[in-house]
Amino acid sequence: MRKFLIAGNWKMNKNSDEAQSLASEIAQTLGRQHEVDVVICPPFTSLESAARAIESSGVKLGAQNMHPERSGAFTGEISAEMLRHLFATYVLVGHSERRVQFAESDEFINRKVLAALNSRLKPILCIGETLEEREADKAFEVVGNQLKAGLANVPADLADLVIVAYEPVWAIGTGKTATPDQAQEIHQFIREELKNLFGDAQADRTRILYGGSMNPGNAEELLKQVDIDGGLIGGASLEARSFLQLVEIASGLSQ
Ligand code: PEP
Repeated sequence: MRKFLIAGNWKMNKNSDEAQSLASEIAQTLGRQHEVDVVICPPFTSLESAARAIESSGVKLGAQNMHPERSGAFTGEISAEMLRHLFATYVLVGHSERRVQFAESDEFINRKVLAALNSRLKPILCIGETLEEREADKAFEVVGNQLKAGLANVPADLADLVIVAYEPVWAIGTGKTATPDQAQEIHQFIREELKNLFGDAQADRTRILYGGSMNPGNAEELLKQVDIDGGLIGGASLEARSFLQLVEIASGLSQ
């Protein structure tokens, strides 16, 4: 009942020309397929060329970050409205690289979620525990706290726009993936927490993506888990071939 979503996080890769060619290849291959929602998240400087490249396809555009304010003296920052102007409809919020390297707090991340929703951008709220936290048996506590803090004060009528990505920090860019069972138990926990926040019906509709070294070799087993509704893909989204294979795997499981 939930449609798979495959999102590519290109991080700080692909200049505007490179983005245009990668986005074109993805868009031309996928055309207007609608079995799986497909989103690409290029860097800010490549949003415009990527937007042009996917224009007549079903592929959607996302940004990797945003600032919660609408405008003003925030040197180097980009607002939700600026992203909308470039036809972005999704935005990553709270990626662990931003939490760790840019000291983003849960409170600041929550402000971004609310601002994104206010501009009708779909926030992909990223949450996940570090290796130390997992080894200290704190994975559920950390993930639960990040989820509740990130979604604080989200109005019920906008909850439908929210997407959650569970990304164990120890699995991002490391080649280590959570096993399907490890991922499923956290996803199931996240869904239970979403039920407490928004009620059963909304929680059953909300997509929870897995992220952390997902690739064409491990995706099928992960995506077969009942509470895994897609993937947030870093490394494997930088080449059309592997990204398209992931979409194909999700598509095959949607039949
Ligand atoms: C990510 O950055 O969101 C991610 C999941 O990266 P990778 O797939 O490279 O682990």
